[in-house]
Amino acid sequence: MQRVVVIGGGILGLAVARELSARGADVTLLEKETRWAAHQTGHNSNVVHAGLYYKPGSYKARMSVAGNRSILAFAAEHGVPAEVCGKLVVATDDAQRAQLRVLADRAEANGVPARLIGPAEAREYEPEVACVEALHVASTGIIDFPAVCEALARVSAQAGAELRTGAEVTGIRPRSGGGVEVAVRSRPVPTWCAATCSSTAPDCTPTGCPRSPACARRRASCRSAASTTRCARRSDIWCAG
Ligand SMILES: Cc1cc2nc3c(=O)[nH]c(=O)nc-3n(C[C@H](O)[C@H](O)[C@H](O)COP(=O)(O)OP(=O)(O)OC[C@H]3O[C@@H](n4cnc5c(N)ncnc54)[C@H](O)[C@@H]3O)c2cc1C
Repeated sequence: MQRVVVIGGGILGLAVARELSARGADVTLLEKETRWAAHQTGHNSNVVHAGLYYKPGSYKARMSVAGNRSILAFAAEHGVPAEVCGKLVVATDDAQRAQLRVLADRAEANGVPARLIGPAEAREYEPEVACVEALHVASTGIIDFPAVCEALARVSAQAGAELRTGAEVTGIRPRSGGGVEVAVRSRPVPTWCAATCSSTAPDCTPTGCPRSPACARRRASCRSAASTTRCARRSDIWCAG
């Protein structure tokens, strides 16, 4: 079985590790900190978004709606604290009503359960709200993202993934005989494929991208070795061989 190295133990890396290990891949996840969700994932607003704002039919819209359902199902299955509390988007004056209608249409097109309500009904949901009209979005929720990460780590480990904290990746380069070499500090970890899920912080900088079809990049076309040092991407797949 070919090894896949996943870099980053936030929600993205752990979800990738969980999915790949569930499909039988030999997964090693490398996280530089000593715990999961130590960065962005552990410092966000803990909202499960409904998929209201995205352009209908776009990947973002479809992924957001599907993700809303799947993360809540995952939470229920694995005992992660979550609540579908809904949310209100409010028009505070008449000029904002048109925008609220645009959002209501968008919600309908995206399959998001939402309806326009008056101020009195809005106050039943939130007594302190002051508005002329509101859009009540039923499927927005709140969740404990660090607890989601703990559960993803548990499930991945049960499926055979090796999960390493305190493992900072310092470089990624293609190997001449095929595959990729991921360096943890100065020790190389050979792998068939590396998925970087290390967020916007560019502290692991791939080098030596051969600009060949074998280097499959998910979010951007393959750039030269020099330009990859900018490393602005969030999540890429590096396979060479
Ligand atoms: C203010 C704010 C609020 C938000 N609120 C929400 C919200 O309510 N709901 C929502 O769904 N989204 C929200 N988001 C977005 C969401 O938090 C992020 O999209 C998500 O957490 C990104 O996860 P990640 O795994 O990509 O990144 P991270 O959680 O940052 O994980 C990256 C991991 O990679 C590790 N890493 C980095 N470099 C290396 C290296 N060299 N070697 C090994 N490991 C490394 C880091 O230590 C880190 O653990 C919010 C974002 C912001 C900015």
